[in-house]
Amino acid sequence: ADAGEPTIPADLPLRNDLIGEEPYGAPQLDVPVCLNVNENPYAPKADVVNSIAERIREAAATVNRYPDREHEELRQAFCTYLKRESDANLQPNQVWGANGSNEIMLQLFMAFGGPGRTALAPAPTYSMYPEYARDTFTQWQTVPRNDDFTVNVGATIDAIKSVGPAMVVLTSPNNPTGTALPMEDLKLILEACQDAAVTGAQPGTHPIVVVDEAYVEFRDPGTPSAVTLVNDYHHLAVSRTMSKAFAFAGSRVGYVAAAPGIIDCLRIVRMPYHLSAITQAAALAAFDHTDEQLAEVDHLRDIRQQTAAWLEQQTYKGQPLRVMPSQSNFLLFGGNLDERELIFEQMLERGVLIRVVGPDGWLRVCMGTDQEMARFREALVESLRAVE
Ligand code: PMP
Repeated sequence: ADAGEPTIPADLPLRNDLIGEEPYGAPQLDVPVCLNVNENPYAPKADVVNSIAERIREAAATVNRYPDREHEELRQAFCTYLKRESDANLQPNQVWGANGSNEIMLQLFMAFGGPGRTALAPAPTYSMYPEYARDTFTQWQTVPRNDDFTVNVGATIDAIKSVGPAMVVLTSPNNPTGTALPMEDLKLILEACQDAAVTGAQPGTHPIVVVDEAYVEFRDPGTPSAVTLVNDYHHLAVSRTMSKAFAFAGSRVGYVAAAPGIIDCLRIVRMPYHLSAITQAAALAAFDHTDEQLAEVDHLRDIRQQTAAWLEQQTYKGQPLRVMPSQSNFLLFGGNLDERELIFEQMLERGVLIRVVGPDGWLRVCMGTDQEMARFREALVESLRAVE
């Protein structure tokens, strides 16, 4: 399914800074066990499929007209969901949807990044951010995380003061490490941003803080989400998605919770009618079945804990594997896998697709069904023995 050899003719005036660049994305391979892109492995139940089809059928009847540009009904559904899921009290003018949280992020970079400005993030983190930065001519700068991949709050605050970023991007739980950012640390960074000036922007402006909570539903129950801070910090934007826990990746729906002022900024850069009537209809139908869509989240969290404990008992070259504590639906494991590409290949030969991502020596696996995880375990033991 991948594009194959590059075919871009040299006489096409592709932007100078894009020459030699390649499209980013995990391999899309036809493999029995796909544990590489952090999806929810459980397909929608028949009654959910029927509801989606019914809503889309209704939307199809007026598809000669443009959709509701402001997606009012869907924004109300985001608020209802965030109240239920995180006990956040938000109004529709504090939420905004797009085609995946990828598009939310791009809109944030378009509105707040740009030439002469910097986006700052603790690294390692999600590898799409530097691409949004490139596409919007924003400088991308990182601060190393601690050895255990927690955010180095002191170093991050120092960088905020010295760099004056327009945006600080915090991912919680982080991809690919699974690490959560404690609320106390987030508040320290929010407060540092309230006092910092933005380089390359109007005097008197302060950095916005973007918290990417793509995986947040997999956190330990009872842990607060950053969406509960949106009413207190007008420079905070919390991005969410229906792609992961909500089991809706194929429909491409993400959203952001933020002060109305931030939403108004996003409205300036969005494409006209960016969310199709079909997408809005499908998302509304899925929200009608929130319980069913989230039904396996507890189970996947249990599987994550069991898999982490199992991985810690495995060895490579006589040394135990390390497993990073994860609050998401994937695990970063190894630390000592000096031949991780070979291990990945061996897994693939056994029909199990995982991900080579993050710092050297580590691999990432996302949680599948019980059957898929059994195959993962079997394949991993064989692959480690084959390579070491
Ligand atoms: N943020 C993070 C941290 C992710 O890992 C992903 C998906 N891999 C996304 C955002 C984008 O997800 P989507 O566009 O499907 O909402």
